[in-house]
Amino acid sequence: MKAVLPRRKHGHGERSLATGSSPIAVVLGTRPEIIKLARIIELLDDRAVLIHTGQHYDDSLSAWFLNAFGIAVPAETVGIGGTSRGEQIGNGVAGLSQKLSELAPAAVVVQGDTNSTLAAALAANSLDLPLVHVEAGLRSFDRSMPEEHNRVLTDHLADLCLAPTTVSVDNLTAERIPDSRIAITGNTVVEAVNDVLPSREDRLEILQDLNVESGSFVLSTFHRPENVDDPARLESIIRQLSTLDLPVLLPLHPRSRHQAEEHGLWPLPGVRVGDPVDYPTFLALLAEAALFVGDSGGVQEEVSILKRPMVVVRRSTERPEVLGTFSTLVPDPEQIASVAAPLLHDVEATLDRLRDIPSPFGDGSASDRSVKAIDTMLETGKRPR
Ligand code: UDP
Repeated sequence: MKAVLPRRKHGHGERSLATGSSPIAVVLGTRPEIIKLARIIELLDDRAVLIHTGQHYDDSLSAWFLNAFGIAVPAETVGIGGTSRGEQIGNGVAGLSQKLSELAPAAVVVQGDTNSTLAAALAANSLDLPLVHVEAGLRSFDRSMPEEHNRVLTDHLADLCLAPTTVSVDNLTAERIPDSRIAITGNTVVEAVNDVLPSREDRLEILQDLNVESGSFVLSTFHRPENVDDPARLESIIRQLSTLDLPVLLPLHPRSRHQAEEHGLWPLPGVRVGDPVDYPTFLALLAEAALFVGDSGGVQEEVSILKRPMVVVRRSTERPEVLGTFSTLVPDPEQIASVAAPLLHDVEATLDRLRDIPSPFGDGSASDRSVKAIDTMLETGKRPR
């Protein structure tokens, strides 16, 4: 842990930046945030001070992921986990404001669209600390999604929006966020996948342990409220999955299991349900699956790196870059089997079609570009306006 530096004092009119040896606070709290901030943390090296919000407190969603990237479990934690969204955000702002005020970082880095992300953004704002948003500018234009509100609010609070693609830059520009606050970086998930994906040999061993063969199974996960909080929708998803021609592996998010039990749908019939798996295992399965069916945001990017097809069971997506190539949006779960059938009819042909399509999420340099953009902001000594 870095020494806690004296608190900087500057009024809102001044907007100057502390540089030099000031730490950079990196706030994270969930599985996708760890995955997508890992390389940035590595590049910031001993300038990075990690603060874990505790939104995902389960080892299978947090500690395993820190381990996969060789990141020590952060000493600084704020226990916001396991409560309602309002409580998570409120407790997060209070706890993080206190930690950040003690730390007086040169900047606060957040990622994505979780309650932790928004809480950290508000805490940084309350202390007038420069805020950097990794994976800025994603929009589903679906105001029923809490994540959409989290990401819009965070982008508007951020001094530096690190946008993964031109689509996300355009979204920010359309909301009148000035160019001076935007940098295009690519998505840091590319380097995460490159760093963690097991070798082919290791992947085949993982498949053997699970008694499935490459290209002969479907991988699936669900956790979004729109799918798992609605018993009819969840029942429809499971029924559709159970009719697919290939076995379906479903490493289930604890939230989804809890909801299935609450709705009286447990045990789930016709699918191979398991606990969530660690990141190397998940990537190994995804890289060898015939198809992914689910509602994950990050997996929509990972399929474009691993060249797999995905059926996105959601009303909307904030990753339109891969629609029509790697992904198909299926708003009605009753259509899962009919959309999956042609993709599974000739798996070889489906995979051949995807093999040479480049990922729109970049070349594995997004973390490097992100750290350069942060350093440029800090070196100028002024907050972008
Ligand atoms: N993931 C994992 N193990 C699992 C399920 C998912 O490692 O059992 C990874 C997956 O590769 C992706 C991330 O977790 O990178 C997605 O997390 P989640 O779907 O919870 O969040 P989202 O991306 O939808 O915000």
